[in-house]
Amino acid sequence: MRRALREAQKADLQGEVPVGAVVVQDEKVIARGHNRPLALLDPSAHAEILALRRAAKKLGNYRLKGCDLYVTIEPCAMCAGAIIQARLRRVVYGAPDPKAGACGSALDVLNHPKVNHQVEVVSGVLAEKCARILRDFFRQRRKTGVRGQGLGAGGWGLGAGGAGIRSQRKRSQPLAPSP
Ligand code: ZN
Repeated sequence: MRRALREAQKADLQGEVPVGAVVVQDEKVIARGHNRPLALLDPSAHAEILALRRAAKKLGNYRLKGCDLYVTIEPCAMCAGAIIQARLRRVVYGAPDPKAGACGSALDVLNHPKVNHQVEVVSGVLAEKCARILRDFFRQRRKTGVRGQGLGAGGWGLGAGGAGIRSQRKRSQPLAPSP
């Protein structure tokens, strides 16, 4: 998880929502990724997706059997879908995402009773550190008036809520009140 946190810091330095992920096989990190939707102009460029893509390239197989994913924040529905497609063995995440987490918080995509592949889920690993880097990021953004990213940081009590921490919603949309 410390390696995933280091990835999150890279995203932070690049002005991206600080989320990081690593794929581990046989206790070795085989791929890393940090959030890059802004830089890549790619809504799917979440840390998890980038790490899974790199791991699949490295292994020459999109099925990442026996691999584990460590990610600083609970994966969203898109990433949970990719985790199932990759047949990961285990997902370890830091902080929960009450607004968009798809591993039991907002949705339960992993281990949904109708999904064949079962993934072991471990939550709360270095959760406070993983959440703090996000909180600091959003606090800084609000202070400097940067708009258009991460406005849905409701889970950290900073944003307007509703669309998850990695939403790119514009201010022109009416926002739901904070819970
Ligand atoms: Zn995601």
